[in-house]
Amino acid sequence: MNPFLIGGIAAAAAAFSARWNWWRAKVSGLAVLMYHHLGDPPRPSRHDKLWVREADFRRQLKFLLAGGWTPLLFSEFAAALDGGSAMPEKPALITFDDGTADNAEAALPILEELGVKANVFLVVEGVGKSTHWEDPAKKPWLRMLDWDAVARMRASGLVEFGSHTMRHPDLAALPFKDAAWEIQESKRRLEARLAAPVLAFAYPFGSGAFDPALRACVRSAGYRFDFSVRQGITPLPWRFEDGPFKRLLVRRDDKALDFSLNLSRGRARL
Ligand SMILES: [Zn+2]
Repeated sequence: MNPFLIGGIAAAAAAFSARWNWWRAKVSGLAVLMYHHLGDPPRPSRHDKLWVREADFRRQLKFLLAGGWTPLLFSEFAAALDGGSAMPEKPALITFDDGTADNAEAALPILEELGVKANVFLVVEGVGKSTHWEDPAKKPWLRMLDWDAVARMRASGLVEFGSHTMRHPDLAALPFKDAAWEIQESKRRLEARLAAPVLAFAYPFGSGAFDPALRACVRSAGYRFDFSVRQGITPLPWRFEDGPFKRLLVRRDDKALDFSLNLSRGRARL
């Protein structure tokens, strides 16, 4: 064969292998997908990557189902961990951070169409308002879910809610007592509104997820599960002492291969 052609093929293969980690060993455990918003980003936005197109979301859910993953609600995952029900062979949690209005308007219809379960981490003081914790010069404020939309999502039987604090602060940068208030008060307020236990907590920006004092606070507040933004799949069985759950960030520009490698290898990129 022409040596230039062989060289070209080798270079292309090397580039492919640098972009996509198909060569990484397969891992098993709990796959937690991390979404934020569905649809098209408002302009101007520096966070375009967090807006996943609805058609891509539908394709990703179909891929999950076809691949044998079982998307669970937090309460179902808790029951399976406790042995009250069988742990699916390939358990998954679909999560949305923040609780913006598109979660009900765009995601819920697709979840209903496919009968897929998901979980939303709410910023409690943002419900019925906007993402007012953002600097509007950097990121336009987004409409949040209101309590009616939250109730509608719950009534579908396909969505459960966790806490993403009261005001979306950088927890590790707060005085401890203020961070503790964010963790405890959001659970109390959500449980009063939902009349159901709130089992899960997600650290805004992932901040504090590996701080032992903050984790102890999350645990003593009564949460069973806490979620970081560290990339990866979490081995099962899991105990709180093992550390917060890792997640798989889904980006707007992800290809089908990225999504597939995230689920099988815990990451798609170097
Ligand atoms: Zn967030």
